[in-house]
Amino acid sequence: RQAIIAIDGPAGAGKSTVARQVAAKLGLVYLDTGAMYRAVTWLVLHEGIALDDECAIAELASGCVIELAPGQDLQSPVQVWINHHDVTQAIRSIAVTSNVSAIAAQSAVRQALVKQQQRWGKKGGLVAEGRDIGSHVFPDAEVKIFLTASVQERARRRLRDFQKQGQSDISLEQLEKDIAERDWKDSTRKVSPLKKAPDAVEISTDGLSVTEVTEKIVDYYQQ
Ligand code: C5P
Repeated sequence: RQAIIAIDGPAGAGKSTVARQVAAKLGLVYLDTGAMYRAVTWLVLHEGIALDDECAIAELASGCVIELAPGQDLQSPVQVWINHHDVTQAIRSIAVTSNVSAIAAQSAVRQALVKQQQRWGKKGGLVAEGRDIGSHVFPDAEVKIFLTASVQERARRRLRDFQKQGQSDISLEQLEKDIAERDWKDSTRKVSPLKKAPDAVEISTDGLSVTEVTEKIVDYYQQ
């Protein structure tokens, strides 16, 4: 199989932007696994299922059809469909963002999505981005990167993203709080918590440009 580059790290460390650039540079496919957890969360909310109804959510996650396609351009996030609903925009809403950790903590949801990710990754040729890619989904990935940044820096980046989308009703303090809370939930959950694989290279992106981080990763891949 072709190579796999695994990029993990906490919310807002710059994984998506960097992963898209690396994939484009190396001619690999970009796989945004967070978008899949977001899509399932959207469906749970859309169907009005209670967040703690693990049985109903397990059934939903194992029976749903998720489709991904590259964004319009390198700056745009992936296009996402779940059960043929186009949820590209909707999965970035505050409602989905604040509930996704609770859904992603459910083991049946993870089993269903990881199975799908491994199926897509069978032939390799991927830059896969998430929380458990190097540690669990593709433990044999040729390159494993763990991207970090301070909570303050990550909140500033999220604020810029929201402002670009025309959402200006959210404060930096609120975003810092949300990010810290999501980190805590993602790293303390029982199943596949966010953690650096022992053989992953850690890169702190504070003060580095997207191009600089991309180049570092491409260098590791070419070494
Ligand atoms: O990366 P993104 O912020 O889109 O991920 C949304 C959420 O999905 C994360 O906060 C985490 O709870 C979950 N996730 C996960 N495992 C992955 C990718 C995302 O648990 N591989």
